[in-house]
Amino acid sequence: MKKIGVLTSGGDAPGMNACIRAIVRYGISRKLEVVGIRGGYRGILAKDIVKLGSRSVANIIHRGGTILETARCDEMKTEQGIRKANETLQSEGIEGLITIGGDGTFRGAVALAEAGDVKLIGVPGTIDNDVYGTDYTIGFDTAINTALGAIDKIRDTAGSLQRPFFVEVMGKTRGFIALEVGIAGGAEEILIPELPTKIEQLSLDISRSFKKGKKSSIVIVAEGDDAGGAFSIAQQVWERLGLEYRICVLGHVQRGGCPTARDRVLASKLGAAAVDALLEGKAGYMVGEFKGDITLTALRETWEKRKDLDSNSLRLIKALSG
Ligand code: ATP
Repeated sequence: MKKIGVLTSGGDAPGMNACIRAIVRYGISRKLEVVGIRGGYRGILAKDIVKLGSRSVANIIHRGGTILETARCDEMKTEQGIRKANETLQSEGIEGLITIGGDGTFRGAVALAEAGDVKLIGVPGTIDNDVYGTDYTIGFDTAINTALGAIDKIRDTAGSLQRPFFVEVMGKTRGFIALEVGIAGGAEEILIPELPTKIEQLSLDISRSFKKGKKSSIVIVAEGDDAGGAFSIAQQVWERLGLEYRICVLGHVQRGGCPTARDRVLASKLGAAAVDALLEGKAGYMVGEFKGDITLTALRETWEKRKDLDSNSLRLIKALSG
């Protein structure tokens, strides 16, 4: 293999730049030519491809977002789009392609690989941590630390006002972010899609917590919770308790900012591992880190299998709310 490409796709995540840097520099050290494809799969179709050298990735390890930019590209979901993308990859001489993103990105990778000759390796990059085959995805650690900083500040004001605060965090359909942020932030309640939310019980718990003398009540709501978002849940609780409340939807601040050390190290290790996998002739896998070891998981399994939340953390939700 002589030439490989790298792209970032789907939602951006802090640490993607550190991963691009690792792929470029490690690839060059292994005598590969590396090109960057700008704007995810759309960049293949538009032939928006740039040669990347060691200097092109200088000074990016600490930057959030992705220098290659990302985009959603519906054309890739069509046969014609896949055919066109494979033709471009072939005409550009790109033999191996590393795609950094979430499960949608990996679906695109599999579709490409099934219809062409390019060797595909995926790297999990999404703040949601909802990808099977790795303990952590690139961006998750930064996102939970960003959310935690906000929650610590909210607790200061919540304690002064003695009102329940409903804080909505990201995570799409899963509760990984909410669970970790809730435990780290000492939340009174953590509402996640994986557990049923009973408004009656929640209202009772909030009311009891104030009666016990608690100064603040922070309810972390995962954006995908079955009972609705923070606005809807807060309203339902208000109808039962009549307690004035405040809402804070953290939103996209969770996607930005400097990646944490953990995310930079994970991204660097997985980037290099993706290059190694291609050089070893592997294709159709996602590189991940599982219990400290670098692992390969068939791309298809990353969305067909469901990643479980940590059972020890789940046990703590009620026990630590005091
Ligand atoms: P995040 O988890 O941050 O949202 P993601 O990788 O899951 O990241 P998606 O928007 O689901 O983000 O997918 C990114 C891109 O992958 C899509 O815009 C599309 O170009 C491609 N893609 C997704 N699903 C498919 C599919 N079934 N076939 C071909 N391409 C796909």
